[in-house]
Amino acid sequence: MSTLQEEITSRKTFAIISHPDAGKTTLTEKLLYFGGAIREAGSVKGKKNTKQATSDWMEIERQRGISVTSSVLEFDYNGHHINILDTPGHEDFSEDTYRTLTAADSATMLIDAAKGVEAQTEKLFKVCSMRGIPIFTFINKMDREVREPFEVMEEMENVLGIRSYPMNWPIGMGQNFFGIYDRHARKVELFNPDNPSDVEVKQISGPEDPLLDELVEPSFLSQFREEMELLDVAGDPYDEDKIFRGELTPVFFGSAVSNFGVQNFLEHFLYFAPSPVGRESDQGFVEPVQDLFSGFIFKIQANMNPKHRDRIAFMRITSGKYTQGMTVNHSRLNKTMRLAQPTQFLAQDRSIVEEAYAGDIIGLFDPGTFRIGDTLAGKGNFQFAEMPHFSPEQFAAVSVKDAMKHKSFEKGIQQLTEEGLMQLFQTYNRYPEQQIIGVVGGLQFEVLEHRLKNEYNSDIHLEHLPLTIARWVTGDEKELDTFRKKQRNLAVDRDNKLVALFENEFQMNMAKDKYPNLVFHENSFTG
Ligand code: GDP
Repeated sequence: MSTLQEEITSRKTFAIISHPDAGKTTLTEKLLYFGGAIREAGSVKGKKNTKQATSDWMEIERQRGISVTSSVLEFDYNGHHINILDTPGHEDFSEDTYRTLTAADSATMLIDAAKGVEAQTEKLFKVCSMRGIPIFTFINKMDREVREPFEVMEEMENVLGIRSYPMNWPIGMGQNFFGIYDRHARKVELFNPDNPSDVEVKQISGPEDPLLDELVEPSFLSQFREEMELLDVAGDPYDEDKIFRGELTPVFFGSAVSNFGVQNFLEHFLYFAPSPVGRESDQGFVEPVQDLFSGFIFKIQANMNPKHRDRIAFMRITSGKYTQGMTVNHSRLNKTMRLAQPTQFLAQDRSIVEEAYAGDIIGLFDPGTFRIGDTLAGKGNFQFAEMPHFSPEQFAAVSVKDAMKHKSFEKGIQQLTEEGLMQLFQTYNRYPEQQIIGVVGGLQFEVLEHRLKNEYNSDIHLEHLPLTIARWVTGDEKELDTFRKKQRNLAVDRDNKLVALFENEFQMNMAKDKYPNLVFHENSFTG
């Protein structure tokens, strides 16, 4: 029997961050395939016309054929227990996506080699980098005519501000993709376009090894050798500390669809990626390996079963071990409760969890007892650090059409905000007062409308506002006073923190120039 320590350290919990179409579904499928979690790669997530979507729980998801909310996939590989936190791949992603990242201990950034760093990757990267977690990079689609590897790395540095250390390097690309060279293991993995998953591996002494002359066409080989020389001379040195702090990203090249380079990535990743990391609480740092069970809710998903209209609260276990039916303390409510029938997520199936360890994610049946950020612990009454809110990108004033329904509308708005579907602001110093909803992706508005109607019997009116940025404002009291009086589009969030809403960057920069002693925070954490 393995010890608590062994169980916990064998775990790796990470999220894949990418822009839609970079190949996240494809990469996830291949990873699960290695773990034997799915027999046949190609069935992780239902796309538009597949009926068996992983999360077709919500009607909107079914109507649109997309996955609105993120889920968790897990598999075992070589003695490791791996949890992949899936973030929605659709353009209309939500704050949920950001919060999911708080449950991850590391991230894999997936980049389409032809497109480089794209908008959503940049946003998600920022959140990971704020948390200082290690970030691994998989540069995908090398079987196509793509951009030069150096160009992509340079873009990563310019746009994201992260330096990279290529763990392997591609030889050629597209029609002339010969494979990858693993710089540490000094081996080449040869790409066979006719049978890509049949990878031939050759041990070599280094890029100059004459064996390569037999395997690779001269022009591609000489380019490869030049690039390797350049990397050795001008590239960043290998530095594990920097990798752990998220300042240097190990880079891997491959072709997910061909299942090429995926295993190489997976093996290095498992070596580097941190085992479950503890979290800060109001009573100090909580270490993962200890007898005390604890965890926090990072996501709430409603209507997984429309017939029962239940909600599932996703909990990241922070320390210790969960056993079926255990009793825990709910810190915010200061209440003892029994955790009945949590579910775990293996590929598509939901199953009852009997035990789970720090690093794992379990889904708890939620009759309305949980909020985002809630802490549960075997004993004691502490609270994990609060979860930050990030700037929404779309805003609308919300009101109920039928004033008679006001009460249930207010209840709905309140509950859906707690669930984390959207952010709720109240206009500041403006009459009549208005409630403003902020979302990251427009789809959230549709979900909001749908759920208020179906669950709270309230038809709503949404007046879309020409605003795109929220900043939490602090600073010099006197200046803040003037700001409060003169600035347009001010609001307060649920914690009564002052928030300035802007139409665009230009307008925000004007305010920054005008009020040099105020700080405009990008999230509620520092605000
Ligand atoms: P997601 O939106 O990030 O989940 O992307 P998908 O995994 O659905 O992939 C988007 C498209 O890119 C699909 O048509 C994939 O078959 C294709 N794709 C994924 N990986 C590769 C790759 O390595 N090479 C090529 N040529 N196409 C790929």
